[in-house]
Amino acid sequence: MSDMTLTHTAQADVADLSYPTMRQIMRHQAAQFELPLAEDGAARVAMRTMIGLLALEPLDREGVRLLVHAETARDLSILRENFISQIAAMFPDVARGVRWSDAPAAGVRPSEFQFAEVLEVRDLCADFLRVSLQLAQWETFDDGSIHFRFALPAPDNTDPDWPVMMPNGASKWPEGEKALHRPVYTIRALDRSTGRVDVDIFRHEGGRTMTWAESVAPGTRVALTGPNSSGVPTARHLLMLGDETAFPAMARIAETLPPEARIEMTCLTHSGQQDYPMAPRPGTIPHWIAPEEAEEAGRSMIARHLERPGSMLWIAAERDLTRRLRAHAAEKGYVKSDHYLAAFWTRSETAG
Ligand SMILES: Cc1cc2nc3c(=O)[nH]c(=O)nc-3n(C[C@H](O)[C@H](O)[C@H](O)COP(=O)(O)OP(=O)(O)OC[C@H]3O[C@@H](n4cnc5c(N)ncnc54)[C@H](O)[C@@H]3O)c2cc1C
Repeated sequence: MSDMTLTHTAQADVADLSYPTMRQIMRHQAAQFELPLAEDGAARVAMRTMIGLLALEPLDREGVRLLVHAETARDLSILRENFISQIAAMFPDVARGVRWSDAPAAGVRPSEFQFAEVLEVRDLCADFLRVSLQLAQWETFDDGSIHFRFALPAPDNTDPDWPVMMPNGASKWPEGEKALHRPVYTIRALDRSTGRVDVDIFRHEGGRTMTWAESVAPGTRVALTGPNSSGVPTARHLLMLGDETAFPAMARIAETLPPEARIEMTCLTHSGQQDYPMAPRPGTIPHWIAPEEAEEAGRSMIARHLERPGSMLWIAAERDLTRRLRAHAAEKGYVKSDHYLAAFWTRSETAG
């Protein structure tokens, strides 16, 4: 993405923030999320993200100018919301009062929010249900955008509230008893001509999404937001390790990459089941492992990745395992573009 294509721009002048403080915060964010700083000076600091550029400039009088640059109106809205939520985490009153140059419409639904219709639910294999949905809008869902969030009301909430945009460009989500459960899922398959998507839901204890899916009737509407912009890797040699929550993403990636791409696939199964339908590819045979083998398998994959320049490492599993493997990868001097190492779920404190 070149700066020339970032034609959608918005700015907001905020008197109650100081440039030196905000500059420090942006530097910290850049380091935390491994995002590059495009500029870092006394007159402007700017951070690149996957979908655009966020910048800060000091005002002549007290205060700071927030600037957002993106390729599309939708990306601008997402970036702006991220900007506001970062500010809100530290200065909630200031964040509420921010007003943008392009005055985004207030009271409407966030642009990435929609209602889909449940078409079908069926058993896919021992541990998974497949839910097919008809999206209302799917022009922003493409081969590179494979994740989204459900927005599920609590089962006893028969009169749900839905999110609305606020004048500061942030969305306001219902809270308390009306709060929506918003887990991330993978679009296992997307028919771009009809907007039909398949989502594979792993059956685990206490899973609210599985409970919803098991009882939902075809024709029911379901709220979701997306797509999220994590993307499909394009490497010619991919080393993948994931548990059940990652199987749909691994299958989708295996299906999307060209035939000449080489994929090594290690599947971590907690129940011992090995019947999830991975997309078949000549030369790729899923290697199934048990939880006690996972850390060693991850370390060995990291070592193989290091021996093969141009390969990409892709690991997605429970948070603690990914943390340990991320620490191991960091010791080996990994750089961000080289690997994807993501927590797809978090074991609860009380779980054994
Ligand atoms: C990018 C991304 C893509 C994902 N894609 C998929 C997908 O396609 N299919 C899929 O099934 N999941 C997927 N997940 C994982 C999913 O978001 C989490 O498992 C989420 O917690 C599920 O919500 P829930 O409503 O089932 O359970 P919650 O109500 O959030 O959690 C209830 C309890 O279940 C526990 N729990 C959550 N996940 C698991 C698990 N896998 N095994 C055991 N216990 C668990 C929690 O710790 C909690 O105690 C994805 C996650 C990410 C980040």
